[in-house]
Amino acid sequence: MKYIIQEHSILGGKLPKHQKIKVIGAGISGLMAGFYLKKRGYDFEIIEQSQRTGGLLGTQQLKEGLVESGANGFIWCRELQEVADDLGLKLMTPDQSAKKRFLVRNKKLYRYPLNTMESLNMTAKAIWPHRQKLETAADFGDTYFGKAFTNHLLGPGLAGIYAANPEQLSFPGALSRIAKIMNQSDLLPLALFKNRSENSKNPNAAKGRAGTHSFAGGMEDLVAALTKHLEPYLSYETDGLDLKAAKENLLITIPAYHSKHFFKGSLFQMLDQVQYTPLISSTFFFKREDLADFQNGFGCLIPRTEGLVTLGILFNSCIFPNRSTSDDLLSLTCILRDDSPNLDLIESSDEAIEALIVKELDQLFKLRGKPVNRVLKRWPKAIPVYSPELYHNWFEMDRLLKADYPNRHLFGNYTGEISVRAICQAASKIGL
Ligand SMILES: Cc1cc2nc3c(=O)[nH]c(=O)nc-3n(C[C@H](O)[C@H](O)[C@H](O)COP(=O)(O)OP(=O)(O)OC[C@H]3O[C@@H](n4cnc5c(N)ncnc54)[C@H](O)[C@@H]3O)c2cc1C
Repeated sequence: MKYIIQEHSILGGKLPKHQKIKVIGAGISGLMAGFYLKKRGYDFEIIEQSQRTGGLLGTQQLKEGLVESGANGFIWCRELQEVADDLGLKLMTPDQSAKKRFLVRNKKLYRYPLNTMESLNMTAKAIWPHRQKLETAADFGDTYFGKAFTNHLLGPGLAGIYAANPEQLSFPGALSRIAKIMNQSDLLPLALFKNRSENSKNPNAAKGRAGTHSFAGGMEDLVAALTKHLEPYLSYETDGLDLKAAKENLLITIPAYHSKHFFKGSLFQMLDQVQYTPLISSTFFFKREDLADFQNGFGCLIPRTEGLVTLGILFNSCIFPNRSTSDDLLSLTCILRDDSPNLDLIESSDEAIEALIVKELDQLFKLRGKPVNRVLKRWPKAIPVYSPELYHNWFEMDRLLKADYPNRHLFGNYTGEISVRAICQAASKIGL
């Protein structure tokens, strides 16, 4: 059984080199595309609806420290290093104290949350060949490692990236690197061995710096530097949807629920079907002494079985010490998912959300005092769900674009890559 792995997350044909390209949207997808269009000598313009660039990315400076509205950082890659070098930006590496990553079980933090029986069961399953088709990430976890692995390791790990449950996520869509490895053999140890020996022969295999990176002034440093670099090409407060009927080449980098208006028929429907998870990103500052059970680390991920609303907590001031302005202050970012049918959580008052988070933090760290400050950012449509349906539609959307809309291209966090790192890697292929 072979999984088809998407090669390019910019959907549609090759971007034409000798005609003007209009990039719609100046989030990180539009900005990264602009960076490489400029680098490779294309004629282009970027059209942004709002007064600012960056989309989901943005950094606010409080007297207690930095607050990110979306991404807090990115995993290092050669391409982002190249972008940073060209823009004269210095990457910030994570502090040593951020090495430990935790998973929550029974409201306690563990580096490894499985017991001996669960670990033995996991090993026994992993060494056995499995031939059934794996549609979802949960199918993969349950089949190759067992339910305890899916519930306590894979589920929270994937929620930390995709903010969705493993049952909702496509196996080859959300775990494409593992699916690619599994294409080598149904026997996991053999597939891993083959992959390892192939990588060792590949001189271009990525070897780099580990861990989450960012910039001294937060992700806004990247947005601001890209914006300055692309200033002559940027138009603000312009609705890209005005180009719905245009014959020009469009690279559409806005969310699927807006991009759909450029199309009719099946393409409209496939874009309309992309689901987005509602999230709240909340950053809290506490006096360090007020969290009795706190331990230094990168953060903790929380399985849904814990019955908490918080999906995960980043220990910002451990990862990048300048995220709080004083050693006595801890900065924590809690990501909450609103699973209510009518966005009841997102629509509740700041006070109600704060009370809920404080209650959950108390369960995990035993609070002895109130937060010094906090910022809440609501995202009713935060992150696209990498569902089996979306995975199948990537190939169909690509085919339809090439056949029926040769001058339109789709690129964004729903077209195959969700992270800042992978969006940059996809954009770096423009013009190659
Ligand atoms: C809470 C949260 C935490 C995250 N954490 C991380 C992390 O730690 N690391 C990581 O790598 N990723 C993280 N992500 C994911 C990552 O931030 C996003 O996937 C990425 O920023 C999406 O960028 P984008 O450009 O595709 O879309 P967007 O940021 O949504 O940008 C779209 C742009 O298009 C503009 N636009 C919309 N409509 C129009 C129109 N009609 N005409 C013109 N312009 C228009 C918008 O104003 C916006 O500027 C996080 C996301 C969230 C929500």
